Amino acid sequence: MLIPDTISHGVLKSEDEHRRDICAVGRWFHQRNFVAATDGNISLRLDSHRVLTSPTGLSKGMMSPEDMVVTDFAGNKISGFRGPSSELAMHLLIYRLRPDVNAVCHAHPVTATGYAAAGLPLDKALLSEAVIGLGTVPLAQYGTPGTSELTDSIEPFVQSHDAILMANHGAVTCGVDLLTAYYRMETVEHFAQVALVTELLHKQVLLSRKDVDKLLVARARYGIETAATCPITSDSSEPDRIPLTRRELESLVEEAIRNDRLRH
Ligand code: 13P
Ligand code: ZN
Repeated sequence: MLIPDTISHGVLKSEDEHRRDICAVGRWFHQRNFVAATDGNISLRLDSHRVLTSPTGLSKGMMSPEDMVVTDFAGNKISGFRGPSSELAMHLLIYRLRPDVNAVCHAHPVTATGYAAAGLPLDKALLSEAVIGLGTVPLAQYGTPGTSELTDSIEPFVQSHDAILMANHGAVTCGVDLLTAYYRMETVEHFAQVALVTELLHKQVLLSRKDVDKLLVARARYGIETAATCPITSDSSEPDRIPLTRRELESLVEEAIRNDRLRH
């Protein structure tokens, strides 16, 4: 089967088209340096009870449509010659918490992963397009890849973010369709590269709260419904403020209590 160089928006496609689309996105991951070796994974909702996922341990730049694996929403394999992605649980968590999401991309883009390895979220109002497209990109604490540690760490952020940095690992994005989820990965990496340039220049001119409010309103015009967290603006009273939703704060407190119990 021929892998296309372009894919279109939309979820109402045949299973064959979805398989080819995942292969195309895998190739873009490789071409754009979003992954090395067999890194990254891509999935989409096929219907209300089936997920189509990239296979584990294969270069995502060299996949064929028949390499894809079909599972149910509990992670049980329904069909496919290969094993499903080792991060399938992370994808399934996002589908469970976000009925509006039909596709998930996970990759290790160099600059964004650099921020994640430096313990830095992408949460400053530096780029109008990033505010519209992503709001902020929070940093989930480190969890061992392919385990429940990882799903636990991203869970507090899933409801209110379409892109999340994973500490010392990479990034995960989601969207209404595969192209949207993929574009968000491009935006995350682009945002990280621009943020890095401003760090190198030792100068950052942040957008004002007023400008950010206008951009957050504009999100609706672009059909983005995820409630965006406001990034740090030029007039934030405390520049080191960490923007957190109530759910994120509760989860951090719960985590601290759990860790404390384990120590005693
Ligand atoms: P899989 O090949 O199992 O999808 O894993 C790649 C990866 O990036 C793990 O975090
Ligand atoms: Zn990974």
